[in-house]
Amino acid sequence: MEKLVIIGAGIAGLTAAIYAARANLSPLVISGKEEGGQLMLTTAVENYPCFPEGVMGPEMISKARAQAKRFGTRFKDGNVEQFSVKGKNIYEMVVDGEKIEAKSVIIATGASARLLGLESEKKYWNRGVHTCATCDAPFYGGKDIVVVGGGDSACEESLFSAKVVNSVTIIHRRDQLRASKIMQERVLGNSKIKVVWNSSVEEILGDGKKVTEVRIKDVNDGSSRELKTDAVFLAIGHIPNSAVFKGVLELDENGYIIADGRMRTKLPGVFVAGDVHDKVYRQAVTAAGMGCQAALEAERYLEGISRQ
Ligand code: NAP
Repeated sequence: MEKLVIIGAGIAGLTAAIYAARANLSPLVISGKEEGGQLMLTTAVENYPCFPEGVMGPEMISKARAQAKRFGTRFKDGNVEQFSVKGKNIYEMVVDGEKIEAKSVIIATGASARLLGLESEKKYWNRGVHTCATCDAPFYGGKDIVVVGGGDSACEESLFSAKVVNSVTIIHRRDQLRASKIMQERVLGNSKIKVVWNSSVEEILGDGKKVTEVRIKDVNDGSSRELKTDAVFLAIGHIPNSAVFKGVLELDENGYIIADGRMRTKLPGVFVAGDVHDKVYRQAVTAAGMGCQAALEAERYLEGISRQ
């Protein structure tokens, strides 16, 4: 029986692990298939305190993991396929077929990129359709690409891509960007980036092997046109990774796990941290803060039940 299982190894889960390990709870972290979470898909993080020059997302994750390990955190690769209440104060997880029981659980499974829901998106997945410019834009050196979305992610992806590709066309469904002012200014002031406003991507077209065009629809007059492109980068938000907890925990209408201000879910001993719970801030620093809160709460909870 594990004292504490932490599901997820992004910055929220790893911060929880550092705190829990230093409290001698010997936590087991289940790493998941997208190990390291969204910071693995980003470049420079400029708004995490203590790094005046910025820090690379993957570097943050690898250091946080080493820090958690140093204090006795154990790691297990794999995805939680089932989560259930096994008895009073006992929870069971099935990880790639193996059953693991725990007295306390911190869920820090994060969120995954939202897709448009087009068949063509699947057809050309990783053959012109991508969700991580940092990872894949360098494959399109000197070529023309499209970025879909109008938030900070779309702007960040566009700015990064503009350094390596010939041109970036942002396709956004409204007439203004949702991104922060500073990101908007950088994007709109970049000569390699242009924005097609009030438009949505209707179809991704290709020659069977790779993407060659997108069909875009003007949302005001309904007209469609085709735009030549070598790749489409989707940056239209994220979906919380909470499906496995549905029916056991309370989720809101968008799938975010509901918890109180102390990261406690409705199940005693089960806590949340990071983007699987937080749809408001969604920052590395807030995810790390929630990881800390959840670990401190788990520690108090475990002390309480051991006294019973
Ligand atoms: P977001 O802020 O939710 O923006 C998603 C964008 O995609 C919106 O512009 C939205 O359009 C559009 N969109 C959503 N569904 C769509 C669909 N089906 N078809 C077409 N367009 C669609 O998501 P995000 O940009 O990933 O950012 C998430 C959070 O992380 C934000 O809080 C953001 O500030 C933060 N973030 C910060 C940084 C940074 O500080 N460096 C970098 C990345 C992200 P509408 O505008 O019409 O809704």
